[in-house]
Amino acid sequence: MDISLLVPALLGWIAGLLVNYVSDVLPVTRRLSQPACPNCRTKFSSAGLLRGWMDYLTLRACRNCRTRRSPRTWFVQIAFVASFLYFWLFPPPGLGLPLSLIVLTYFGVIIVIDLEHRLILHPTSLFGAVLGLVVGTYIYSRNNGILSGALTSLLGGIAGFVIMYLLYQLGALVARLRARRMRAAGQAEDDEEALGSADVLLTGTLGLMLGWPNIILGITAGALVGGAFGLLALIGHLVKRRYAENSLMTFIPYGPSLVLGAFYILYFF
Ligand SMILES: [Zn+2]
Repeated sequence: MDISLLVPALLGWIAGLLVNYVSDVLPVTRRLSQPACPNCRTKFSSAGLLRGWMDYLTLRACRNCRTRRSPRTWFVQIAFVASFLYFWLFPPPGLGLPLSLIVLTYFGVIIVIDLEHRLILHPTSLFGAVLGLVVGTYIYSRNNGILSGALTSLLGGIAGFVIMYLLYQLGALVARLRARRMRAAGQAEDDEEALGSADVLLTGTLGLMLGWPNIILGITAGALVGGAFGLLALIGHLVKRRYAENSLMTFIPYGPSLVLGAFYILYFF
């Protein structure tokens, strides 16, 4: 084995730690706070600041209640080492190696937090917008200069935002009609919202990265991924014989689907 592959393996492990840390603390405390046990809420640092961080970063169980770190923690660590190794060996031509690793880490945070909390947080959206503009400008300034690159990126961002905003409004309209129908049928309303306003911001960010017109491809790919998730959910419901219109509609993780679609276009298209 080539010894220099230890570099991406180590970087991937560190990126995994970062994704796990941000996903652990940001949705709960809304800031980059001291990590705490998800079971008993005891801060790792209650064993001493240095020892606490050592415990946390070496993926030890909680000293208070002995709860082990989640399967997600381990999955993220392994997935990031594997993908950093892969992109180190085969860097995406447009994106280049350094940005491809940074964007991957950002995507990891968005996907984990969205899947676990159904949330896209404002700080991550803001960070994504800045990163998106840098990435889009970098990709598209190669041929026609930095101004043209920034313009292509901005156009992609605006297109992504506007398209998803229109879909969001359409979804809100359908939800209103559905609520009226449920009221008429004497059923209790639910506040299900298929597409959230955070998904609109997220698509704007992905548009900045993909640029115009590639954001159209990105949204299309995201819709295909979302459809695949929906199909899996449908099969699951049929197998368990618990088919329900509502749960099917809300199962599809729109944010992660859009991110995976953009990931495909950015890294492999
Ligand atoms: Zn605990």
